[in-house]
Amino acid sequence: MKIALVTGASRGIGRATALLLAQQGYAVGVNYVNNDTAAHSVIDEIQQAGGKAIALKADIADEAQVVAMFKQLSAELGSITALVNNAGILFRQTTLENLSAERINKVLSTNVTGYFLCCREAVKTMSHRHGGKGGAIVNVSSAASRLGAPGEYVDYAASKGAVDTLTTGLALEVAAYGIRVNCVRPGLIYTEMHASGGEPGRVDRVKANLPMQRGGQPEEVAQAISWLLSDSASYVTGSFLELAGGR
Ligand code: NAD
Repeated sequence: MKIALVTGASRGIGRATALLLAQQGYAVGVNYVNNDTAAHSVIDEIQQAGGKAIALKADIADEAQVVAMFKQLSAELGSITALVNNAGILFRQTTLENLSAERINKVLSTNVTGYFLCCREAVKTMSHRHGGKGGAIVNVSSAASRLGAPGEYVDYAASKGAVDTLTTGLALEVAAYGIRVNCVRPGLIYTEMHASGGEPGRVDRVKANLPMQRGGQPEEVAQAISWLLSDSASYVTGSFLELAGGR
């Protein structure tokens, strides 16, 4: 059986991805950090449709919690074959000169350290080098990694730049061990991350500048992630897929 871990899967893009992967026959580890009710509603929805899912409560920025999460996944579902590094945070609307060290560290520890830790643990299990059966990883970056988000959230944009570089480096490091590593770069996607914060009218302003004149739905990102994980993408690694309405 295909076994996937989706981080930050209680809402937004992670939720849509967990539901889609379950429909496609994956047993899914639903990682979340604080909203038990939301995470369990994802699991209930999967189970009611005849799928298999478990709750994995862990802060991805915490090494001990990540190691324990992978142990639990392996004990309850089996060896991981697919990782979706999705959990992320964004704080808005601050110029660089007003950024606190606390905010920078918080963003980097989740969006960068968390991705590294989950990749490390997944690779240990998947790698042919350690007797694993191979697998696929998708990192969720952002269009911001190349835009920089000046005056808004340069800390977040820089963290996503690190996700891009992690994708390239890891893809090359583990290609020979049966593991593919790819990246999606969403633009404006309608989730709570975008609903919260930002100056009034920001979403409309961003939308008006998009060639497709609309934001994307989390399900549209989930489709791209599931394709990159699938055997249909068996010769694709180290790639970046833009999901930004033509931006
Ligand atoms: P969201 O805020 O709805 O979901 C993010 C999830 O990550 C939440 O459930 C949150 O609890 C979880 N999370 C945060 N910190 C965590 C931690 N330390 N450990 C475990 N879970 C944690 O946002 P979303 O829009 O669904 O974002 C998903 C991913 O997509 C993020 O990496 C985000 O940066 C990226 N992204 C989103 C957009 C967008 O427009 N929504 C655009 C580009 C990239």
